[in-house]
Amino acid sequence: MNKNDFGFVFDNSFAREMNGFYVNSKGADAPSPQIVLFNRSLANHLKLDSNALNSPAGANILCGNTIPEGASPLSQVYAGHQFGSFSARLGDGRAMLLGEIVDTNGQRCDLQLKGSGKTEYSRGGDGKAALGPVLREYIMGEAMHGLGIATTRALAAVTTGEIIHREGAKPGAVLSRVASSHLRVGTFQYFAARGEQEKVRQLADYAISRHYGELAGEKDKYFGLLRAVINTQLMLVAKWVHVGFVHGVMNTDNMSISGETIDYGPCAFIDTYDPGAVFSSIDHTGRYGFGNQPVMAQWNLARFAEALLGIIEPDIPEKAVAQASVLINQIPEQYTYLWLSGMREKIGLASQEENDLELVNTMLNLMEKARVDYTQFFRFLAHSAIGDDAGLQALFGKDKAIANWLESWRARIAREDLEAAARATQMNKINPVYIARNHLVEESLRAAEKGNYQAINQLLTAVSSPYKTRAGFEGFEQPAPEDFGPYETFCGT
Ligand code: AMP
Ligand code: MG
Repeated sequence: MNKNDFGFVFDNSFAREMNGFYVNSKGADAPSPQIVLFNRSLANHLKLDSNALNSPAGANILCGNTIPEGASPLSQVYAGHQFGSFSARLGDGRAMLLGEIVDTNGQRCDLQLKGSGKTEYSRGGDGKAALGPVLREYIMGEAMHGLGIATTRALAAVTTGEIIHREGAKPGAVLSRVASSHLRVGTFQYFAARGEQEKVRQLADYAISRHYGELAGEKDKYFGLLRAVINTQLMLVAKWVHVGFVHGVMNTDNMSISGETIDYGPCAFIDTYDPGAVFSSIDHTGRYGFGNQPVMAQWNLARFAEALLGIIEPDIPEKAVAQASVLINQIPEQYTYLWLSGMREKIGLASQEENDLELVNTMLNLMEKARVDYTQFFRFLAHSAIGDDAGLQALFGKDKAIANWLESWRARIAREDLEAAARATQMNKINPVYIARNHLVEESLRAAEKGNYQAINQLLTAVSSPYKTRAGFEGFEQPAPEDFGPYETFCGT
C-alpha cells in the first residue's frame, strides 16, 4: 500500500475478501468536474492532503474520472424491501466504492462515489445524481454529525458539467461519501433470498470483523450480530426522534449494519411537533412518517433476523426462529426505554421516576396541540430551568396549559439535587439551537443551483456546531415563515 499524491492509502478488504458480492466498476466521464463543496475537516480526519485534493486534479478523482492509485472501484449487490415490497436485486445502481481508508482513529471507512454513472445494477436508471439531492445529502450528513448522531458524511460535492433529466433539466453532480461500511440489511437479504447460506455466513463474518469485533470468538456470534444490529439501530432511531429527524425512506436497503444514518433522500427535520409528519412526496401512506420510525425499524430488523435464521441454528430452524423472535418482540419495550432515557435528558432530568413517561407524553401532547416548534421548545425549557418562563410562554401564545405542565415539571426537578444553572447547561449541551430547517435547506439549495454557495456554507457552519449559539445566526433559530407552507421532499434520484 502506497500513499499517492492525494494522501490516499487504500486497503480494500471488501474487494479482496468478498468476491461474488460485487462487480468491478469503471469510472465516470464527467465533461468538466468542479468541486463545489469540500469537507476539509473530514479530509484531515482521513489523513488526506486537502490542498492536493481540493483542486482540478482532485475534482477528477472525486467524480470518478480518474481512479487514484490503490483504489479498486466496485459496485455492491444488495436486495431490499422498498415500501414493504421485496426487490430481489437492487445494488449500487449509481455508485461505486473507490476503496477503504483507515482514519485517524484507526477506524476503517468506505469512500464511495454516488452519481458516478451506470453500473450493472442501474436497471433503467442513468446512474447519475442531480446537484440538489447531492447537496442536500451533504448538508444532512454534516448536520447529523454535528448533532453527534452516527452518519455517513460527505467528503465533497462535485458538479460534473453535465445536464441530467429529472423533473426537467438539472445539473449533474457526484457526492463522495464516507461510511463505516456500505453493508445493508438488504445485502444480507440478497443472498438469503437466493438460499446462499454460505454467502450469508461469509457476509456475517465480514460484518462482525468490521463492526462488531467483540463477537468474533463467541459461540453464538450470528445471534450476537442480530442483537448488536438491533441495539445499534434502535439507538440510532431513538436519536433521530430526539432531534426531530425523519429519514423518509427506511427501506431495508437503506438500513446500515454499522448503525449509521445512510441514504439521505426525502429526509427532513420537523419544525412543529407532529408524530404524523411525512415530508416525502412518494410516501402516500405515511409508512415512514416521524412517529412510525420505531415501528418500521422493528419491521426491518425482523427482515434482518429472517435473513440470518439459516446461519443462527442451521440444523434446528425452529430454535433459530424462537431465539430471534424473543429479540424482535422485545423491540418496542427496548426502544421505549432508549427513547425515554433521551427524553429525560432533554427535559433536564438526571434520575428516573415511574411517572416520567407520563410527564414527557403530556408535554408532547401540549406541543402538538399548540403547534409548537420542537427544537425551540427545549432551548426555552432550559431558560425555565433558571426561572425564566417568558420564552416558553411566548411559544405557546394564548394556550395556558403549559403553565400546569411546568408546575409538574418543577415539582419533578425539585426532587433532584442539581443546581439550576448546571441543569440548564446540561440541557443546552444536548438540545440543539440549530437544525437543518427545511426552509433554510431549500433556500440554500436554490441559491447553490444558481452558483451561489454562500447560504449553504453559512448553513453548514450553523449545523456543524448545533449546540453553540452563534452571533449573527439568529435567523437560523427561527421556524419557517408562515408563507413557506407544507414541505415536500423528493426521493433524490
Ligand atoms: P435509493 O432510493 O437512492 O436508496 O436507491 C434505490 C435503488 O435504486 C438503489 O439500487 C440505487 O442504486 C438505484 N438508483 C437510484 N437512482 C438511480 C439512478 N439514477 N440510476 C440507477 N440506479 C439508481
Ligand atoms: Mg438506497
